[in-house]
Amino acid sequence: MAGVVAAVVVAAGRGFRAGGELPKQYRTLGGIPVIRQSLAKFVDHAEVGLVQPVIHRDDAELCASASAGMRILAPVFGGKTRQESVHAGLEALAPYQPSIVLVHDAARPFASADLVSRAIAAAAKDGAAIPGLAVTDTVKTVDAQGRVAETLDRARLRTIQTPQAFNFAALLAAHRKAGAAGRDDFTDDAALTEWAGMAVSVFEGEAGNIKLTTADDFVRAEAKDLAALGDVRIGTGYDVHVFGDGDHVTLGGVRIPFERGLSGHSDADVALHALVDAILGALADGDIGSHFPPSDPQWRGASSDRFLAFAVERVRARGGRIAHLDITIVCEAPRIGPHRDAIRARVAEIAGITADRVGVKATTSEQLGFTGRGEGMVAFATATVRLPWSG
Ligand code: MG
Repeated sequence: MAGVVAAVVVAAGRGFRAGGELPKQYRTLGGIPVIRQSLAKFVDHAEVGLVQPVIHRDDAELCASASAGMRILAPVFGGKTRQESVHAGLEALAPYQPSIVLVHDAARPFASADLVSRAIAAAAKDGAAIPGLAVTDTVKTVDAQGRVAETLDRARLRTIQTPQAFNFAALLAAHRKAGAAGRDDFTDDAALTEWAGMAVSVFEGEAGNIKLTTADDFVRAEAKDLAALGDVRIGTGYDVHVFGDGDHVTLGGVRIPFERGLSGHSDADVALHALVDAILGALADGDIGSHFPPSDPQWRGASSDRFLAFAVERVRARGGRIAHLDITIVCEAPRIGPHRDAIRARVAEIAGITADRVGVKATTSEQLGFTGRGEGMVAFATATVRLPWSG
């Protein structure tokens, strides 16, 4: 049985209990939608080949924007209950005949790659396996009057998480059987497979793999995220290019018609060059010239967006995140103001952040100095980068 491992990510609930205007799985944590973080756990996992989101039919646009660029199957719509939603995801996967399927709640964005690996290994061995955590609180049952009926043996209790992992054919058969029996109320897939007569094993879950449910969960998760990326760095960059012949300048990745051009290495995008140095400065990782030597002919005329993409990837490789970018352009002409928002949008796109995290400002030098005489253009930039402390 060498079929692919698939994942069903269940995001069909409305989840307004967490507050806010969006269903909780589409809210952001650290600037990234929760569902994107949950999907990434499987998309980025070497052992998982197919990722099937199950969403609410009102959320198609939300999901498309939250999962832009991800290698996932087209989302399918869920049903009235969680069980029906999982079933819809399984039926969509059936043509691929996966060997193992993981079922995961989109509201658990903190599952680790290790946990996913353990789930796959446990399902391969036992056919049905779920992550569980030992209970630290004492648990009691109560009667209808709220009086204690029984104190349970804590040593035998586990709280259960996702991803839950199953032999695909067995889980699909169990869902079809439950559907045919008119049952639609199983709250997790383990309960359903138990009902269908399968043995379910429990492997070690993760304390950090919480399900975001309440507004307070989001507040705590944000705090944790900020603490994890608590090494806040600010880098500065500066660049100058000389005016020469031409009919446009390229600034912040945007072509601006002008009676002259900027000359120099690459496309002479003085704004992006300053910005790349600001990011590299925040990383204490050399400068643009050390990574892309002007003496190297391959960078002649090169579009500077690749230099920025390179610097952004260096941040990502360190496990970090760009919090903010800010550029100041100094020249008498051309006028930058009309192009400000286009530059912000282009820089945001290259950097993989939202445009509200990109500042672009312009000023003249009151006709003083080389910028005042129109001999060249200057750009200053700062970058605020968050890194993990280990970085
Ligand atoms: Mg330059």
